[in-house]
This record gives sequence, C-alpha cells and structure tokens, in this order.
Amino acid sequence: MYFSKVMKNSKKQIGFTILALVILILMQAVTVLRIYKLETDKFDTEYRELIINGLDLFEEAKPGIGLDVAHDNLDLQTKRLFEYYKFGKASDTLGFRKITLKLIQEDFEKNQEMDVLIKKILQNKKIKTKFKVHILFHKIEFDGYSDTLSIFNETIDSNWEYVDDLRIPDGALSVKRVNHWGSYYSCNYELLIDFAEKEKMVLGQIAGMMAIMLVALFVIGFIFITILRNMLEERRLSLLKTDFINNMTHELKTPLSTIAIATKSLSNSDFASDSEKVIGTAKVIGRQNKQLSKQINHLLDVSMWERQQFDLDKRWVVLGDFLHDLVEAFKWECKDLDMTILQDCKIDPKLEVFLDETQITTALHNLLINAVKYTDKKPEISLSCEYTDQIILIIKDNGIGMSKDNAKHVFEKFYRVHTGNIHKVKGLGLGLFYVRQIIEAHRGTIQLVSKLKKGSTFTIKIPSNGRSNNSTG
Ligand code: ADP
Repeated sequence: MYFSKVMKNSKKQIGFTILALVILILMQAVTVLRIYKLETDKFDTEYRELIINGLDLFEEAKPGIGLDVAHDNLDLQTKRLFEYYKFGKASDTLGFRKITLKLIQEDFEKNQEMDVLIKKILQNKKIKTKFKVHILFHKIEFDGYSDTLSIFNETIDSNWEYVDDLRIPDGALSVKRVNHWGSYYSCNYELLIDFAEKEKMVLGQIAGMMAIMLVALFVIGFIFITILRNMLEERRLSLLKTDFINNMTHELKTPLSTIAIATKSLSNSDFASDSEKVIGTAKVIGRQNKQLSKQINHLLDVSMWERQQFDLDKRWVVLGDFLHDLVEAFKWECKDLDMTILQDCKIDPKLEVFLDETQITTALHNLLINAVKYTDKKPEISLSCEYTDQIILIIKDNGIGMSKDNAKHVFEKFYRVHTGNIHKVKGLGLGLFYVRQIIEAHRGTIQLVSKLKKGSTFTIKIPSNGRSNNSTG
C-alpha cells in the first residue's frame, strides 16, 4: 500500500519535472525568437538611419546625384512613352501599362546611383557586406499635354502581379518612401535594400547569448536525466528489496514452522515414547535445520562474493570427464523427475583445462537446476561444449523463458522475475548472481538469450590455455 503510494508519487514527480523541462525549453525558444526579432528591428533601424543620414550628407555636398539621376532619366523615358500613347500608337490597355511599368522600373533601377553611394556610406563605417538596391513603385502616372494616364496605383491595381515579378526578398530593408513629380510624371516609390548577409549578421550579434542559453539548457537537461535515472534506480532497488524480504521470509518461515510443529510433537508424551517417531522427527528437524543454515550461508556468501574475498582454487581438470560426471550427478539428483538431458561435447576427451572445479560445478549446477525449476513441461536440457582458445559451454532449456527486459537483469543480486505468484518457485534471486560472479572470477563471460514460452540459452565463455593430458604423460 505504502509502496504503491511512493510509486505513484514518484511517477507524478517525474511527470511534473518533464513538464517543467518542456515549459523551460519552450520559454527559451520564445525568448530566443523574441531576441532575434528585436535584433532584426535594431539592425533595420540602425542601417536605415545610417543610410538616410549618409544620403542626406551626399545630397547636401553634391546636389543632383543619387536618385535625382534616375528622376531626370525617367523624365525622358516617360515623355517618350507618353507621346507613344498620346499619338495613338498605343491604347490604355493593361498590357500597355504593364510593359510601361516594367520599362520604367528597369530604367529607374539602372540609372539610380544608390549602389555607389550606399557602398561609400558603409565603407565609411567599415562595414563590409553585400547588398542590392530595389525600387518598388506604389504609384506612377503620366502627366502632361493636359492629360493624365495612371500606369500603376497599388490601391486600384492590387490584382497585378507586379510585386511578385519583382521578387523583392521579404527581409529587405525599407529605407524611405519618396514622392516625386517630374515634368511628365508623378510617382510614389519605396527604396529598399536587401542585405544578403543580414541574417548572418543578426545571428552573429546574438550567438554568444544563444550559446550561453544552450549550455544552460544542456546543464539543466543533464541534471534532470541524472535525477531521473537515480529516481528510477531507487525505485527498482526498492522493489527488489521488497521482493527479497518477501522471498526470504518465505524461505525461512517454511523450515521454522516445520521445526515448530516437530518440536511440539516431541513434547507430546505419547509421541515421545515412540522411539521410531522421535528418530523420524529428529531427522526432519535436522533436515530443516540444514536448509536454514544453507539459506543463511547463501546470504553470507553474497557479501563475500561482493567484496571479492575469495580465491579460486584452480586445478587442471579433464573437461570431458568433468562435464560427464556433472551431468550424471545431476541426473541422479533429479532421478524422480521426467526429464531429458543431452550432452554434446565436441572436444578432445583428454583436454585438460585450468579452473576451479568446485566453483564451476556450482555455476553449472545452478543453471541446470534453473532449467528444471523454470519450466511448465517436461524439461529438455542440452549441455554442449566446444573448445578453441576458450571454453564455450552452452546450456539450453525448453522452459518458460523470459522477456528481453528481464533477461537484462537476472544476473543481478536478488533479482527474480515476477510471475504473478512469486512463491510458486522457491528462490532468493541469487543463483544467477553467483553464476556470473564465478564466471567473471575466471575472467569469462556469460550471455543469455531467452524467449518467453520458448526457453533460454546460456552461453559461457572462459578463456583457458588447455592442454591434452597425453602431453603431460
Ligand atoms: P532464483 O532461482 O533463486 O529465483 P536465480 O538467480 O537463479 O534466482 O534466477 C533469477 C530469476 O531468473 C528467476 O527468478 C527466474 O525467474 C529467472 N530464471 C532463471 N533461470 C531461468 C530459466 N532457465 N528459465 C526461465 N527463467 C529463469
């Protein structure tokens, strides 16, 4: 009850932390976008002011330059086009107006001297950047010969594709809007400058701050992941502890209650007078006592294995004989069980390897016992062995198998797979832990491939310089 509450709370905490992190990231993103927008506006204001002031200075110093050159040229152009229309060579059609505007536009852009002037203004400020000047007409009309002809007026001719054809980039800086009256025309146009590297320049301004923000985000993310991992690990260990206490209580309780019943029987005078019954009960007590000490020793072993306070007692062992004896002993141990065990050794029968016979026996015995314990049908086990420059032992069973996720953890201390009723098969979750410790003490490895309801395969590899006992005589 308490535990599930703790789990619920930690789930909530994880949820809130993720939410907080997401909000933080979103806020950072919004802040970055806002700052980018502010920096772009700042760029526009600064450059607009710089260019307008620069142009004013140039015009003061040398009137009739810059846009005025284009204005004067436009007078000649409009006179020619206006006369063309006036003398009946063209009529007021959309086609005529479009062509006229295109010619005017090209003429104006060609004749303006803005490029040179703006380059000089930027150079004065030691700014080196590529740019392109654009002219955008909002209105232009011919005026003269006591007649007027509107060529383009954006409020009336809004359906024209004039602006699309021009392809003025979105971020182009609008420097100023000009109203001008020439001899044969009046117009309203906008002077725009497209800085090709504007985005780069703005980003350069905020790069430092963005880097700091990213580092801060990274640090927060890292702390979050560490906290999350610790929380999950704590939760897992807590679960493991509860399981272990349950299993341990069960393992100790069974022999203890048997001993209690046996002792009670012995205190009964009728029972005590029957020597056969007394001897039988004493044997039961003895067996249960042995079981109790076995479990307690198991637990004591854990700390010993953990501190690696053990020395392997390695000797030369004839591998084939060793495995054969082991399998035979196991068969005898399980003689009451209907099971098959196959042994497939592709090794030189005289091959000797250097290992701790007792420990390796414990490890293999644990694997074989598990193959019998964790099955719901007639156990079919196979033990194969190969030798190259290492001993390869493969134990395969047809048992209940397990999921990939459980297979990752089964070698951990006290880990047991949850099968709904955890007391159905006895155990403390130490068998495979010992197996791994023993194999690793031999500098070997153990791998498990398991499939639910299909069975499990344990592969042990122990590096060993074997010898054939022929050579030693
Ligand atoms: P114990 O058997 O005492 O629980 P082990 O460390 O030997 O401890 O095994 C850990 C868990 O791994 C077991 O609880 C069992 O669920 C699972 N397991 C071990 N061997 C097998 C196997 N051959 N087939 C299926 N499950 C297994």
